Amino acid sequence: MSAVHARTVTGFAMRFGEAPAGVWSAPGRVNLIGEHTDYNEGFVFPLAIDRRTVVALSPRDDRLISVASSFSDDIIGLRLDDLQPENLRGWSAYPLGVAWALSQFGADLSRAGGFDVYIDSEVPIGAGLSSSAAIESAIALALNHVWNLGLDRPTLARVGQLAENRAVGAPTGIMDQSASLLGRADCGVFLDCRSLHSEVIPLGFDAAELNLLVIDTKVVHAHSSGGYAARRASCEAGAALMGVDSLRDLDLHDLGRAAETLDDETFRRVRHIVTENQRVLDTVQALRSHGPGAIGALLDASHLSMRDDFEISVPELDLAVTTARAAGAIGARMTGGGFGGAAIALTPRAVLPAVKAAVLAAFDDRGLRTPDLFVVRAADGAGRE
Ligand code: ADP
Ligand code: MG
Repeated sequence: MSAVHARTVTGFAMRFGEAPAGVWSAPGRVNLIGEHTDYNEGFVFPLAIDRRTVVALSPRDDRLISVASSFSDDIIGLRLDDLQPENLRGWSAYPLGVAWALSQFGADLSRAGGFDVYIDSEVPIGAGLSSSAAIESAIALALNHVWNLGLDRPTLARVGQLAENRAVGAPTGIMDQSASLLGRADCGVFLDCRSLHSEVIPLGFDAAELNLLVIDTKVVHAHSSGGYAARRASCEAGAALMGVDSLRDLDLHDLGRAAETLDDETFRRVRHIVTENQRVLDTVQALRSHGPGAIGALLDASHLSMRDDFEISVPELDLAVTTARAAGAIGARMTGGGFGGAAIALTPRAVLPAVKAAVLAAFDDRGLRTPDLFVVRAADGAGRE
């Protein structure tokens, strides 16, 4: 039993006075490649990581829900009859939003029983590792079990997304929940965000003695949500001007016409999405035919595209990437929505200490806040403990 599992069982017993009926967990994720492609109906390639959110849950005989978390001293209580997105606030909107979202996928809340749940986590919050998808996926799996819903994992991913969109109010795609629910040890989840078809692809990092180093710059830019909305708008405008439903419908051969049709900025936004989709496909292909040693250049190219064409990087992310590469990483890129957050560097185990030291020194030299450095391993997705 992991430490966080043990803490969760103890936490449940302290709040609710008995042992939980069951314990479920779900991991955070890192996106290996495929950035801002999800809302353009393109390709993404994230992996579930070895940091998990654990939920201990017991069904109740009445129609009350009680939610508690290590994250907060409050116990949030609600009647099932009041379970509507507009009634949900704060952190409890994530777990309760999932309970509501299940009703949109067949759960009959007028007949369901209530539940007690306690949540603990080793996924850092707001560090770009999707603690939100981890909590949603763990709760979705637990309620799928105790409410006997029989929903498959791709559907539970849509449940988590709906909860985040409607109950939390964050306009996010389905990548994070898919990684958290579908991930496998030492594998990535290749996801087509149009068809929602997914495939688990072996990464082979362990055998190749490669570590995936996360460099969390801890930079949060005030304009990140505005920047995100602006990029979405540029992509929509670019698609409309090119006469397609979404940028997914364009490929490298369309870039010549795009250059003639679009203004320079919109063209560069479009070029990022089109080339990034191709890089995701190329990454999967390279892993299959040559193994992980062959994907470094694709990670590098992805970063340059985000820095120069999509313009979502920041100096701290560029510094993390160039320093890690110079110190021996075989490929590196910012990951996540941009305007701050984390970078990843695919690093041979032998040079990991040198890469970490170089990054810390580079940030220190420039008087920047010390970044958080940690290795993540591709892990199994959500499950019952
Ligand atoms: P992230 O990048 O970590 O997903 P988000 O802002 O999307 O950041 O989600 C973080 C929010 O999710 C937290 O502020 C909190 O409301 C909720 N959350 C995540 N993990 C937990 C937890 N273990 N217990 C309670 N709430 C959590
Ligand atoms: Mg999130």
